[in-house]
Amino acid sequence: MPSKNKKDTRVTSTCCYCGVGCGVLINKERNGSITVEGNKDYPVNKGMLCSKGMNLHYTVNDKSDRLLYPQMRYNKNMPLQRVSWDDALNRTAAVFKTFINKYGPDSVAFYASGQCLTEEYYVINKLIKGFIGSNNIDTNSRLCMSSAVVGYKMALGEDCVPVCYDDIELADLFYVTGANPAWCHPILWRRVEAHKAANPDVKIIVVDPRVTDTCALADLHLQINPGTDVTLNHAIGRVLIENGDIDLDFITNHAEGFEQYSAIVFKRTIAEAAEICGVTESDIRLAALYISEAKGFITMWTMGLNQSAIGVNKNLSLINLNLITGHIGKPGSGPLSLTGQPNAMGGREVGGLSNLMPAHRDLNNPVHREEVQKFWGGNAINPKPGLTATEMFEALHDGRLKAIWIICTNPLTSLPNARLAEEVLKKANYVVVQDISNKPETLQYADVILPAAAWAEKEGTMTNSERRISYLHKAVDAPGEALPDAEIICRFARKMGFNGFDYQKPADIYAEHVRLTAKTNIDISGLNYDIIKEHGSVQWPYKKKRYVKDSSRLFINRQFYTPTQKACIHAVPDELTSENTDSNYPFVLTTGRIRDQWHTMSKTAKVNKLNQHYKQAFVEIHPNDANGLGLTDGDIAVIKSRRGEVRVKVHISTEIKQGVIFLPMHWGKILGSDLNRANNLTNDLIDPVSKEPDFKFCAVSITKYTKP
Ligand code: SF4
Repeated sequence: MPSKNKKDTRVTSTCCYCGVGCGVLINKERNGSITVEGNKDYPVNKGMLCSKGMNLHYTVNDKSDRLLYPQMRYNKNMPLQRVSWDDALNRTAAVFKTFINKYGPDSVAFYASGQCLTEEYYVINKLIKGFIGSNNIDTNSRLCMSSAVVGYKMALGEDCVPVCYDDIELADLFYVTGANPAWCHPILWRRVEAHKAANPDVKIIVVDPRVTDTCALADLHLQINPGTDVTLNHAIGRVLIENGDIDLDFITNHAEGFEQYSAIVFKRTIAEAAEICGVTESDIRLAALYISEAKGFITMWTMGLNQSAIGVNKNLSLINLNLITGHIGKPGSGPLSLTGQPNAMGGREVGGLSNLMPAHRDLNNPVHREEVQKFWGGNAINPKPGLTATEMFEALHDGRLKAIWIICTNPLTSLPNARLAEEVLKKANYVVVQDISNKPETLQYADVILPAAAWAEKEGTMTNSERRISYLHKAVDAPGEALPDAEIICRFARKMGFNGFDYQKPADIYAEHVRLTAKTNIDISGLNYDIIKEHGSVQWPYKKKRYVKDSSRLFINRQFYTPTQKACIHAVPDELTSENTDSNYPFVLTTGRIRDQWHTMSKTAKVNKLNQHYKQAFVEIHPNDANGLGLTDGDIAVIKSRRGEVRVKVHISTEIKQGVIFLPMHWGKILGSDLNRANNLTNDLIDPVSKEPDFKFCAVSITKYTKP
């Protein structure tokens, strides 16, 4: 039960799981533990929490798996030994300096996480880009939202979600594609559910090769063949144009590229598109009809579009539907990408990806590079983009990269072609792992392990999917010698001999970050911790001395961030570039999440309740496919791709399309076996622009396991 004196024992925070960013109240109990409840005053969730959020306290209270002190080994044959912080950081600084002097700054890299707080992202980015002289910082956001980032920049001129969550209650059509928000963004979806319940005319279209829980609300489910999203979106666009259901005023005055778009969508007949997508022509026309009737039209998407070899094209083809109908910059309308991680957006604000700069500045722009260099007072910013997530592991493989520092992420479960990634890490020269838990497989290949403070054990800020910045209070001390991630990085930077990392507190880092955003599109130079605490949360932009009340919705003046101030309608090709199926690998594998687990389960698997939903990994297969293969429910299936193998229980379901199988992405090595790990199968193919991997499409075979 919560303590009685709430005033002294309760602090506000934000859920550290998905990008919905629900407000949480943390109750500090007399025995040092915490409990959590939804914050009724928080505009995002109004007191609601999903199964993961309402069990957050278990992950903090249970210290059984926590890393408590730094560990190190002097060579690969030695066991890890407990050392002091000074020893661990001195040696790491010496190793980094040696590599940098001998092989150049690009021989080292940081691989971090969309779960890091903004302040943590800021100092990592400042260290590598401003002082070490390399852009080799990437995060697991590369596996998550990078296709959407490129899509927004190409279409709207800026990496920005133009709508706010309050637009949900103003919309009358939701086009949900490549997403299962009923499971993966549950609180946002509850708002859609409540809105539809109160307004039965509200329509929902769901596009997904699987019948998910999200489909329970759908007026139309387009169960497309995997990877055919662009063809579908183009076909809907064609019907809208044919029927005159487009916004000619918006297209003429506020957009460009319509003629090329029109030419490309008319290349295929609706019948051809229906055949390619595996849906009926009449359903495509019905989707277009719903859009034509909508006064408020929101497109929602996440990994089903982003995690693709053509992820950027998929994003652009979807945003085009908002643009040709003029459904942007007005209440209840616009694209709303659903961020997978809690602070992927905050990370991008500080420039925390290998191709970004602080405050969404352009790495290619010498003026921007000089601005940042002068501000930081460090070395010249390298104009060459750094290595992205998968490229880092390629560079470790071929020896270009000598040292990698992995922070708050578990790449050996989450990267595609995970067996290869594991082989690479095993042979890497120098691996630093900074984490809260002793569970991630990555730790077994670490030369140095650094214990980090967890959620509720440190303070800082995050930005959710609607540009809402919130402040997370510290509620309890970290166990053992664990330190906040930002402090670890700053201590290391000082060991490297760099100035500018002697912050007294996280508020100082935040103050520096907001100053650097001045006069940019994401200007939050008027913001500080006190203002965020006073308002509870604020959305960007938030300019100095002027709270932009209506920053909740962008582009209300129909002026975009492109050089012409017009939105760009891109005529993208619809060809799929994923690997081919053939007689050896005849099925398409798609991977995804289940309701109660988060990422690689390093936190959620600590909670018994959350493990009850699905207790083990499984493969979902259509009954017709299962019959043909002699598979029955509960059998063990062997699934093979051109890269690896998985053995999991069979779950026969009519909810998956024939010819497609589904594996959850959460499970990694269990009891030494990696045969639950879906990413043994996935491939390294990436989108050529966003560099996001093709997790949603790989060719596999499936057979019944028989004991040798
Ligand atoms: Fe946390 Fe997302 Fe659930 Fe909200 S919807 S409680 S942010 S996991």
